Amino acid sequence: MSDEENIVQVAVNAPLDTLLDYRVPYALRERGVWPGMRVLVPLGASERWGIVIGGAYCPLDGERLLRELIDAPDVDAILSVDDLRLGGWLAGYYHAPLGEVLAMMVPSALRGGETWRTPDRHGWALTENAPMIVARAARQTEVLSLLREAGGALGDEALRGRQSTLRALAERGWVRRAILAESVVAIGRGQGVTLSDEQRHAHEAIRASLGRYAAWLLHGITGSGKTEVYLAAVEDALSQGAQALVLAPEIALTPQLVARFRARLGERLVTFHSGMPDAARRDAWLAARAGRASVVLGTRSAVFVPLPRLGLIVVDEEHDSSYKQQDGARYHARDVAVVRASQRGVPIVMGSATPSLESLANVAARRYGLLRMSQRAGGARLPRIEMLDVRRRPMRDGLSAPLIERMTDHLLDGGQVLLFLNRRGYAPALTCHVCGVVEECRHCSAPMTVHWGRQRLVCHHCGAERMLPKACGGCGESDFDMGGQGTERLEQTLLGLFPEFPLERIDRDTTRRKGSLEAKLARARDGEARILLGTQMLAKGHDFPGVTLAAVLDADSGLFCSDFRAPERLLQLIVQVAGRAGRAERKGEVLIQTHQPDHPLLQALMRGGFDAAVEELMKERRIAVLPPFAYLALLRAEARDAGRGAALLERCARWLAEFGRELIVWGPAPAPLERRAGRFREQLMLSSRRRDVLHEALDGLFVAIRSWPESKGVHWGVDVDPQDLG
Ligand code: ADP
Ligand code: ZN
Repeated sequence: MSDEENIVQVAVNAPLDTLLDYRVPYALRERGVWPGMRVLVPLGASERWGIVIGGAYCPLDGERLLRELIDAPDVDAILSVDDLRLGGWLAGYYHAPLGEVLAMMVPSALRGGETWRTPDRHGWALTENAPMIVARAARQTEVLSLLREAGGALGDEALRGRQSTLRALAERGWVRRAILAESVVAIGRGQGVTLSDEQRHAHEAIRASLGRYAAWLLHGITGSGKTEVYLAAVEDALSQGAQALVLAPEIALTPQLVARFRARLGERLVTFHSGMPDAARRDAWLAARAGRASVVLGTRSAVFVPLPRLGLIVVDEEHDSSYKQQDGARYHARDVAVVRASQRGVPIVMGSATPSLESLANVAARRYGLLRMSQRAGGARLPRIEMLDVRRRPMRDGLSAPLIERMTDHLLDGGQVLLFLNRRGYAPALTCHVCGVVEECRHCSAPMTVHWGRQRLVCHHCGAERMLPKACGGCGESDFDMGGQGTERLEQTLLGLFPEFPLERIDRDTTRRKGSLEAKLARARDGEARILLGTQMLAKGHDFPGVTLAAVLDADSGLFCSDFRAPERLLQLIVQVAGRAGRAERKGEVLIQTHQPDHPLLQALMRGGFDAAVEELMKERRIAVLPPFAYLALLRAEARDAGRGAALLERCARWLAEFGRELIVWGPAPAPLERRAGRFREQLMLSSRRRDVLHEALDGLFVAIRSWPESKGVHWGVDVDPQDLG
């Protein structure tokens, strides 16, 4: 054994910008240590986990100075060469420490020293006749959905503390004891529908690209049957013995999507998302890694699930901002998925009714192929979008008189009404009517939201809460003004206006309890609830066949916002909300309340639908040199002392000036939310038409920054391709 085999390079899970070399102790040389293995290493005075990247050359004598690995508990590498390659790309592109990136790619249950092997344990499995929901038995419903999400079965330790519930379910014949290594029961395997011409065309294009890299944008209006196309393509891949990865924005919000995949693919599917217990997530990850699970359906972090026989990637609702990770390595799962597809030489299908401007630009540049579907499956008709100019109209808590009239018509006519307001709580601020003091969060520079039912003030930025004050802290009077709307207040108004029609409010506050969202969605779908009111949770991928009227209550907040993406999000929202109305036989109506009926974006939307509105947005972005016509990176600095973040970013701006006109630097400036959770926040925006220039600048800057005294006591980081500028 040569010297260099006794030294390994390790990506340690710590904020380091280099790999570290360690000596392999005699005890471990026998068995061998190779790339992708987990190792425990000394770092300073502490011990950390890391992943071996490779062997290292070390000049003679140098070896003696190196520290030794403490442990390497596994008999095999936890990450494959493919995984390491993807991690390497991520660390480079998002400028994040490789050790932290690799740790993020492993489920949290496996980040410590716990040993792993493909699970072969006793547990519980669903039977064929298990229902989705058990009426008046929340615990039983919860256990059933846990099992369903885990692929139909779970080990005993993941179900600890639920023995009596499981016994009750077993008595009703809905679960049974199982050995988990055995193939889990097939929970029904549905038949596919007969694809329409449009669907078949899309499906054939995707099928023809299996076995090589190809990127497809499936731009299909809501209800055009994109999901059926995904399912057909996934089945193609499986029939070739390959595995498929399917990403969806928020699985908890779209139980229907999971149910459809489950019905078609049965036991071959596992889900992977943050709502699952750690042990269940680990098991799904290991099942995929062992090749036992053929399809992984998951959220953002599922993009890292190891798949040795990967043959196809699907990204549903590719425009959705939840694909962007908002801390640590701020990756975008759709973009990572594209890189993964290209590294592995497999096709990727990105679907949406409202594609992002970035993806549309990639189509224009011929990097992605375009597959369009403009007919609704089953012959349903598209609703009419209409603007409701509310200037000088009497308003009642955010509802204009003409909207109330239209709601009455639809409700009396037997239709369902969907109202969309992207603000939860009762009112966005509590203002003293006598002295004007606004109740602000003590840790953030933002007003607190009134939550009336709980009689509390809540900060929607940091989560801080306090009792609703009886008197103003400034003047002692108790005459408060609660201007503005939230979904909680709107619910009360609607209960007063339409007491005879059952209502469901769906937002983060009303769906905290497990199972409550499913129950609410079920009541919305089967028509029991006649008025549906909610935040963007309601606009995502749900199928409400009885909705005949949908309304966006506050479009103006999306037109005037410091975030340049806000108008794009508003457009997506309107078109998605419109897709919820009139899906069945009935033709639907969509109303947009606005004070800005002449706004070019809304005008373009009325004139030529989504495509015309996109053209309008593209025009603005091109002039402003913003994505997709430029690449952005946002440097953030946070500090407890005011001014320190700005000082660091000012030095960065001076350092970056040498890149000349290829690199545009804006700022530093205070973040839109100047103080959050007690820290002052500053930011510096970098923009370039050339991606390589931007990344070269960042690489150089980060080497320099670490030696500057200004960086002491400042939390700083970079967000490449930022989605949220707050
Ligand atoms: P999307 O994902 O594009 O919004 P879905 O795949 O959810 O559309 O399809 C909308 C509805 O139409 C679903 O109820 C689905 O079962 C149905 N559907 C899709 N394709 C077909 C088809 N070829 N024939 C009949 N019904 C279909
Ligand atoms: Zn706060």
